[in-house]
Amino acid sequence: MAGDYPAGRGRVKIEAAGLEIEGVSIAGHESFYKVPAFRCLLEFGRAPDDVLGYSTICLTHGHLDHAAGLAHHASRRRLTALPPAQVFAPEEAVPDLEAWLAISQRLENVSYGLHVTPAVPGESVLLRRDLEIKFLPGRHSIPTVGYLFSEIRRKLAHGLEGRSGEEIAALRAGGAEVTRREEIPLLAYPGDCGAAIFEAAPEIFQARVLLLECSFLAPDDRARAREYEHIHLDDIAERASLFENEAIVLTHFSLRYRPDEILEALDRLPEEISDRVIPFLPRPAARRWPVPPPV
Ligand SMILES: [Zn+2]
Ligand SMILES: [Zn+2]
Repeated sequence: MAGDYPAGRGRVKIEAAGLEIEGVSIAGHESFYKVPAFRCLLEFGRAPDDVLGYSTICLTHGHLDHAAGLAHHASRRRLTALPPAQVFAPEEAVPDLEAWLAISQRLENVSYGLHVTPAVPGESVLLRRDLEIKFLPGRHSIPTVGYLFSEIRRKLAHGLEGRSGEEIAALRAGGAEVTRREEIPLLAYPGDCGAAIFEAAPEIFQARVLLLECSFLAPDDRARAREYEHIHLDDIAERASLFENEAIVLTHFSLRYRPDEILEALDRLPEEISDRVIPFLPRPAARRWPVPPPV
Protein backbone atom coordinates (compact mmCIF):
# COMPACT_ATOMS: atom_id res chain seq x y z
CA MET A 1 0.00 0.00 0.00
CA ALA A 2 1.16 3.52 -0.78
CA GLY A 3 -0.91 5.74 1.51
CA ASP A 4 -4.37 4.23 1.15
CA TYR A 5 -3.70 3.06 -2.39
CA PRO A 6 -2.98 -0.50 -3.47
CA ALA A 7 0.62 -1.41 -4.37
CA GLY A 8 1.88 0.31 -7.49
CA ARG A 9 -1.18 2.56 -7.78
CA GLY A 10 -1.89 6.05 -6.48
CA ARG A 11 -0.79 9.58 -7.34
CA VAL A 12 0.51 10.07 -10.89
CA LYS A 13 2.11 13.05 -12.62
CA ILE A 14 2.83 12.90 -16.34
CA GLU A 15 3.60 15.18 -19.24
CA ALA A 16 1.76 14.23 -22.43
CA ALA A 17 2.64 16.18 -25.61
CA GLY A 18 3.65 19.13 -23.41
CA LEU A 19 0.54 19.00 -21.21
CA GLU A 20 0.97 18.25 -17.52
CA ILE A 21 -1.67 16.02 -15.96
CA GLU A 22 -1.59 14.98 -12.32
CA GLY A 23 -4.03 12.91 -10.33
CA VAL A 24 -5.31 9.50 -9.46
CA SER A 25 -7.26 7.08 -11.62
CA ILE A 26 -8.30 3.66 -10.40
CA ALA A 27 -11.53 2.12 -11.70
CA GLY A 28 -14.24 1.97 -9.06
CA HIS A 29 -11.91 3.54 -6.48
CA GLU A 30 -11.03 7.14 -7.28
CA SER A 31 -10.45 9.42 -10.27
CA PHE A 32 -9.38 13.04 -10.53
CA TYR A 33 -6.97 14.83 -12.86
CA LYS A 34 -5.49 18.27 -12.39
CA VAL A 35 -4.69 20.09 -15.63
CA PRO A 36 -2.73 23.17 -14.44
CA ALA A 37 -2.40 24.74 -17.92
CA PHE A 38 -6.20 24.98 -18.13
CA ARG A 39 -6.70 25.57 -14.37
CA CYS A 40 -9.25 22.77 -14.60
CA LEU A 41 -9.94 19.68 -12.59
CA LEU A 42 -11.42 16.68 -14.35
CA GLU A 43 -13.56 14.72 -11.87
CA PHE A 44 -13.27 14.87 -8.09
CA GLY A 45 -13.42 11.34 -6.75
CA ARG A 46 -12.16 13.01 -3.60
CA ALA A 47 -11.03 16.49 -2.61
CA PRO A 48 -7.43 16.44 -1.31
CA ASP A 49 -5.77 19.75 -0.35
CA ASP A 50 -4.14 20.40 -3.69
CA VAL A 51 -7.40 20.34 -5.69
CA LEU A 52 -9.24 22.88 -3.50
CA GLY A 53 -7.74 25.79 -5.45
CA TYR A 54 -9.28 24.49 -8.69
CA SER A 55 -12.43 26.50 -9.41
CA THR A 56 -13.49 24.78 -12.65
CA ILE A 57 -14.44 21.11 -12.40
CA CYS A 58 -15.55 18.94 -15.29
CA LEU A 59 -17.50 15.98 -13.94
CA THR A 60 -18.29 13.31 -16.51
CA HIS A 61 -20.85 11.22 -14.59
CA GLY A 62 -22.26 10.40 -11.19
CA HIS A 63 -20.33 7.22 -10.31
CA LEU A 64 -18.83 8.03 -6.94
CA ASP A 65 -15.26 7.13 -7.89
CA HIS A 66 -15.53 10.33 -9.98
CA ALA A 67 -18.04 12.43 -8.03
CA ALA A 68 -17.64 11.69 -4.30
CA GLY A 69 -15.69 14.90 -3.75
CA LEU A 70 -18.57 17.19 -4.81
CA ALA A 71 -19.84 18.24 -1.37
CA HIS A 72 -16.44 17.84 0.28
CA HIS A 73 -14.80 20.17 -2.27
CA ALA A 74 -17.61 22.74 -1.84
CA SER A 75 -17.48 22.53 1.96
CA ARG A 76 -13.70 22.85 2.14
CA ARG A 77 -13.64 25.80 -0.29
CA ARG A 78 -16.18 27.55 1.92
CA LEU A 79 -14.03 26.92 5.02
CA THR A 80 -11.01 28.40 3.26
CA ALA A 81 -13.05 31.43 2.14
CA LEU A 82 -12.72 30.53 -1.56
CA PRO A 83 -15.63 31.47 -3.85
CA PRO A 84 -17.91 28.67 -5.13
CA ALA A 85 -16.40 26.65 -7.96
CA GLN A 86 -17.91 26.22 -11.41
CA VAL A 87 -18.91 22.57 -11.74
CA PHE A 88 -20.04 21.11 -15.06
CA ALA A 89 -21.97 17.81 -15.07
CA PRO A 90 -24.33 15.86 -17.34
CA GLU A 91 -27.71 17.60 -17.54
CA GLU A 92 -29.54 14.46 -16.33
CA ALA A 93 -27.39 14.28 -13.18
CA VAL A 94 -27.80 17.94 -12.15
CA PRO A 95 -31.04 17.56 -10.09
CA ASP A 96 -29.53 14.74 -8.00
CA LEU A 97 -26.22 16.56 -7.57
CA GLU A 98 -28.09 19.70 -6.45
CA ALA A 99 -30.21 17.61 -4.03
CA TRP A 100 -27.03 16.11 -2.59
CA LEU A 101 -25.57 19.58 -2.11
CA ALA A 102 -28.81 20.77 -0.48
CA ILE A 103 -28.73 17.92 2.07
CA SER A 104 -25.03 18.47 2.79
CA GLN A 105 -25.68 22.16 3.40
CA ARG A 106 -28.60 21.32 5.71
CA LEU A 107 -26.41 18.87 7.65
CA GLU A 108 -23.73 21.52 8.05
CA ASN A 109 -26.21 24.41 8.45
CA VAL A 110 -24.23 26.49 5.96
CA SER A 111 -24.50 27.58 2.34
CA TYR A 112 -21.85 26.65 -0.24
CA GLY A 113 -23.28 29.02 -2.85
CA LEU A 114 -22.54 26.34 -5.46
CA HIS A 115 -24.77 25.45 -8.39
CA VAL A 116 -23.99 22.73 -10.89
CA THR A 117 -23.97 23.81 -14.55
CA PRO A 118 -25.50 21.36 -17.05
CA ALA A 119 -23.04 20.29 -19.76
CA VAL A 120 -25.10 19.67 -22.90
CA PRO A 121 -23.35 17.79 -25.74
CA GLY A 122 -22.73 20.06 -28.72
CA GLU A 123 -22.63 23.23 -26.61
CA SER A 124 -19.42 24.98 -25.60
CA VAL A 125 -18.17 27.45 -23.03
CA LEU A 126 -15.33 29.93 -23.31
CA LEU A 127 -13.12 29.54 -20.24
CA ARG A 128 -10.66 32.23 -21.31
CA ARG A 129 -10.24 34.31 -24.43
CA ASP A 130 -8.03 31.56 -25.82
CA LEU A 131 -9.54 28.41 -24.28
CA GLU A 132 -12.87 26.74 -24.94
CA ILE A 133 -14.54 23.60 -23.61
CA LYS A 134 -16.91 21.76 -25.91
CA PHE A 135 -19.20 19.20 -24.33
CA LEU A 136 -19.17 15.82 -26.06
CA PRO A 137 -21.71 13.00 -25.96
CA GLY A 138 -20.78 10.21 -23.55
CA ARG A 139 -21.35 6.46 -23.74
CA HIS A 140 -21.45 4.78 -20.34
CA SER A 141 -23.96 2.91 -18.15
CA ILE A 142 -25.36 6.17 -16.66
CA PRO A 143 -25.68 9.68 -18.19
CA THR A 144 -22.17 10.86 -19.07
CA VAL A 145 -20.63 13.80 -20.92
CA GLY A 146 -17.15 14.24 -22.35
CA TYR A 147 -15.01 17.36 -22.58
CA LEU A 148 -12.90 18.72 -25.42
CA PHE A 149 -10.52 21.59 -24.61
CA SER A 150 -9.46 23.71 -27.59
CA GLU A 151 -7.14 26.64 -27.95
CA ILE A 152 -8.88 29.51 -29.78
CA ARG A 153 -6.79 31.62 -32.15
CA ARG A 154 -7.80 34.55 -34.31
CA LYS A 155 -6.27 34.33 -37.79
CA LEU A 156 -6.42 36.62 -40.79
CA ALA A 157 -9.57 35.86 -42.80
CA HIS A 158 -9.15 33.78 -45.95
CA GLY A 159 -8.37 35.92 -48.97
CA LEU A 160 -6.68 38.67 -46.97
CA GLU A 161 -3.22 37.08 -46.88
CA GLY A 162 -0.66 39.40 -48.42
CA ARG A 163 -2.80 42.54 -47.97
CA SER A 164 -1.12 45.52 -46.27
CA GLY A 165 -1.88 46.61 -42.73
CA GLU A 166 -3.55 49.79 -44.03
CA GLU A 167 -5.80 47.83 -46.39
CA ILE A 168 -6.89 45.49 -43.62
CA ALA A 169 -7.48 48.39 -41.23
CA ALA A 170 -9.62 50.09 -43.90
CA LEU A 171 -11.63 46.92 -44.46
CA ARG A 172 -12.18 46.56 -40.71
CA ALA A 173 -13.23 50.22 -40.46
CA GLY A 174 -15.72 49.52 -43.25
CA GLY A 175 -17.29 46.76 -41.13
CA ALA A 176 -15.70 43.74 -42.87
CA GLU A 177 -14.81 40.62 -40.89
CA VAL A 178 -11.02 40.51 -41.24
CA THR A 179 -10.29 37.61 -38.90
CA ARG A 180 -11.43 34.02 -38.65
CA ARG A 181 -11.59 31.72 -35.66
CA GLU A 182 -9.28 28.73 -35.47
CA GLU A 183 -9.78 25.94 -32.93
CA ILE A 184 -6.86 23.72 -31.99
CA PRO A 185 -8.12 20.68 -30.07
CA LEU A 186 -5.67 20.16 -27.19
CA LEU A 187 -7.26 17.62 -24.85
CA ALA A 188 -10.19 15.24 -25.19
CA TYR A 189 -11.61 13.41 -22.20
CA PRO A 190 -14.74 11.31 -22.72
CA GLY A 191 -14.86 10.01 -19.10
CA ASP A 192 -15.87 6.42 -18.45
CA CYS A 193 -17.10 4.93 -21.70
CA GLY A 194 -17.69 1.85 -23.76
CA ALA A 195 -16.36 1.33 -27.28
CA ALA A 196 -19.48 3.07 -28.68
CA ILE A 197 -17.75 6.36 -27.80
CA PHE A 198 -15.56 6.08 -30.92
CA GLU A 199 -18.62 6.49 -33.17
CA ALA A 200 -20.47 8.90 -30.84
CA ALA A 201 -17.61 11.39 -30.39
CA PRO A 202 -15.09 10.93 -33.22
CA GLU A 203 -13.56 14.36 -32.36
CA ILE A 204 -11.56 12.59 -29.66
CA PHE A 205 -9.28 11.06 -32.33
CA GLN A 206 -8.01 14.50 -33.38
CA ALA A 207 -7.16 16.12 -30.03
CA ARG A 208 -3.44 16.59 -29.35
CA VAL A 209 -3.85 14.59 -26.13
CA LEU A 210 -6.50 11.96 -25.57
CA LEU A 211 -7.17 10.93 -21.98
CA LEU A 212 -8.94 7.63 -22.44
CA GLU A 213 -10.12 5.06 -20.00
CA CYS A 214 -8.98 1.47 -20.52
CA SER A 215 -10.50 -0.34 -17.56
CA PHE A 216 -10.03 -3.85 -18.91
CA LEU A 217 -7.03 -5.53 -20.49
CA ALA A 218 -7.09 -9.32 -20.18
CA PRO A 219 -8.46 -11.25 -23.18
CA ASP A 220 -10.97 -12.95 -20.84
CA ASP A 221 -12.41 -9.61 -19.71
CA ARG A 222 -13.87 -8.46 -23.03
CA ALA A 223 -17.44 -9.46 -22.09
CA ARG A 224 -17.03 -7.78 -18.71
CA ALA A 225 -15.94 -4.54 -20.42
CA ARG A 226 -19.00 -4.63 -22.65
CA GLU A 227 -21.35 -5.40 -19.74
CA TYR A 228 -20.14 -2.42 -17.66
CA GLU A 229 -19.65 -0.12 -20.68
CA HIS A 230 -15.94 0.33 -20.30
CA ILE A 231 -13.12 0.26 -22.86
CA HIS A 232 -11.11 -2.92 -23.33
CA LEU A 233 -7.57 -2.71 -24.66
CA ASP A 234 -8.63 -4.69 -27.75
CA ASP A 235 -11.16 -1.92 -28.60
CA ILE A 236 -8.19 0.44 -28.91
CA ALA A 237 -5.93 -2.00 -30.77
CA GLU A 238 -8.66 -2.65 -33.37
CA ARG A 239 -8.92 1.07 -34.10
CA ALA A 240 -5.18 1.85 -33.98
CA SER A 241 -5.17 3.56 -37.38
CA LEU A 242 -7.84 6.08 -36.31
CA PHE A 243 -5.88 7.75 -33.52
CA GLU A 244 -4.31 10.99 -34.80
CA ASN A 245 -3.39 12.10 -31.26
CA GLU A 246 0.18 13.00 -30.32
CA ALA A 247 -0.31 11.30 -26.97
CA ILE A 248 -2.88 8.76 -25.79
CA VAL A 249 -2.97 8.57 -22.01
CA LEU A 250 -4.62 5.37 -20.85
CA THR A 251 -6.29 5.55 -17.45
CA HIS A 252 -8.84 3.97 -15.10
CA PHE A 253 -7.21 0.53 -15.08
CA SER A 254 -9.13 -1.99 -13.00
CA LEU A 255 -7.66 -3.17 -9.71
CA ARG A 256 -7.92 -6.70 -11.13
CA TYR A 257 -4.49 -6.13 -12.69
CA ARG A 258 -1.11 -5.45 -11.10
CA PRO A 259 0.92 -2.60 -12.68
CA ASP A 260 3.34 -5.08 -14.30
CA GLU A 261 0.39 -6.94 -15.83
CA ILE A 262 -0.96 -3.63 -17.17
CA LEU A 263 2.37 -2.78 -18.83
CA GLU A 264 2.68 -6.28 -20.23
CA ALA A 265 -0.81 -6.02 -21.73
CA LEU A 266 0.03 -2.65 -23.32
CA ASP A 267 2.84 -4.41 -25.20
CA ARG A 268 0.07 -6.05 -27.26
CA LEU A 269 -0.82 -2.70 -28.86
CA PRO A 270 0.10 -2.36 -32.53
CA GLU A 271 3.32 -0.49 -33.26
CA GLU A 272 1.56 2.38 -35.04
CA ILE A 273 0.07 3.45 -31.73
CA SER A 274 2.27 1.97 -28.99
CA ASP A 275 4.93 4.70 -28.93
CA ARG A 276 2.25 7.36 -28.32
CA VAL A 277 0.59 5.53 -25.43
CA ILE A 278 1.34 6.68 -21.88
CA PRO A 279 -0.06 4.60 -19.03
CA PHE A 280 -1.43 6.74 -16.20
CA LEU A 281 0.45 4.85 -13.49
CA PRO A 282 2.89 5.94 -10.77
CA ARG A 283 6.42 6.39 -12.11
CA PRO A 284 8.28 3.39 -10.63
CA ALA A 285 5.97 1.00 -12.44
CA ALA A 286 5.80 2.86 -15.74
CA ARG A 287 8.93 1.61 -17.44
CA ARG A 288 7.62 2.65 -20.86
CA TRP A 289 7.34 6.31 -20.03
CA PRO A 290 9.23 8.67 -22.28
CA VAL A 291 12.11 9.95 -20.15
CA PRO A 292 12.81 13.67 -20.71
CA PRO A 293 16.46 14.44 -21.60
CA PRO A 294 18.58 15.79 -18.69
CA VAL A 295 18.61 19.60 -18.52
ZN1 LIG B 1 -15.00 5.17 -13.02
ZN1 LIG C 1 -18.32 5.00 -14.29
